[in-house]
Amino acid sequence: MKDLHSKISYLQGLAEGLNLDTTSKEGRILSNILDILDDMAAGIKELQDAQLELEDYVESIDEDLNALEDDFYDEFDDEDSDYENDDIEYMEVECPNCHDIVYFETDLLDNEDEIFEISCPNCDEVVFKTDYDIEESEQD
Ligand SMILES: [Zn+2]
Repeated sequence: MKDLHSKISYLQGLAEGLNLDTTSKEGRILSNILDILDDMAAGIKELQDAQLELEDYVESIDEDLNALEDDFYDEFDDEDSDYENDDIEYMEVECPNCHDIVYFETDLLDNEDEIFEISCPNCDEVVFKTDYDIEESEQD
């Protein structure tokens, strides 16, 4: 970036050194182009600064998120010592009502003797239910 700016400065210096006739049509165009280039270089520099700031910010969010994840899974470990068992898989479902993401163990689905229903902890909306309806089939 510094490079681009110095190149433009060089061109501007060159135009001055050559006594560019800014009263001629060509001279006026060249001088305007140099001004515009200068503005563009400044604009790009601003964008780059903003971009770097954003990158720093995203990085700090990422670090915070990692810390939160570590805390979250630490808690999991305390609550359920089986969590170390890699066989447990979790399924996530989005609540159709409040759009919270609800997690549950997929192992729970293996039990075919029970109707399996998961409610949103946030709004109590049923977010997942096993397909077969045992109660109904019993009524038949
Ligand atoms: Zn919900």
